[in-house]
Amino acid sequence: MINLTNLDHEFSSLVKEKSGQSIELCFQCQKCASGCPMGELTDYYPHQIIRMVQFGMRERVLQSKAIWLCLSCEACSVRCPNEIKIPAVMDVLRAMAETKTSGREKNAPVFHKIFLNSIKSSGRVHEAVMMVKYKLKTGDLFSDIPLGLRMFRKGKLPLISKGVKNKREIKKIFNRVEQKYSE
Ligand code: SF4
Ligand code: SF4
Repeated sequence: MINLTNLDHEFSSLVKEKSGQSIELCFQCQKCASGCPMGELTDYYPHQIIRMVQFGMRERVLQSKAIWLCLSCEACSVRCPNEIKIPAVMDVLRAMAETKTSGREKNAPVFHKIFLNSIKSSGRVHEAVMMVKYKLKTGDLFSDIPLGLRMFRKGKLPLISKGVKNKREIKKIFNRVEQKYSE
């Protein structure tokens, strides 16, 4: 049931403007959902996220798991008859949710930010440093220790990581995107 008093009538226009996607064209054919590998694992299928954005259901969208579990695999975009790039929409929603998320996926924005900062600073993910930062930031120090040790033994958590050659270009990309989302 939609609570009409909670609708944000600016939300759809804002997401449309920031993502550059014609969200209003979605006619709920569900082709995106039929190809989404995360659909059954999360709370909403991609067409449902788009519908809620159209309706202005800001809080429900920004508190959904779906925006954090989207893999940006583009399986939805290639099927969409209206060429709506749902990963671009999800990017915008994640950026908006960073300051709004609470409840069910409250640590997801923390992970997301640390992940992106790792790429921004060295051009790639440094898994060991990323995990330490995540644990310290969330206070969740002791879960996943057996998994971490197994990964370390298999060389999946190297202590030293080489960055990529052209870090300056990576930073430029990040700056451009951050500027676009903050406008
Ligand atoms: S990009 Fe996201 S929403 Fe689209 S199919 Fe992949 S996981 Fe699903
Ligand atoms: S495939 Fe495109 S038009 Fe169809 S439901 Fe998904 S977003 Fe909407």
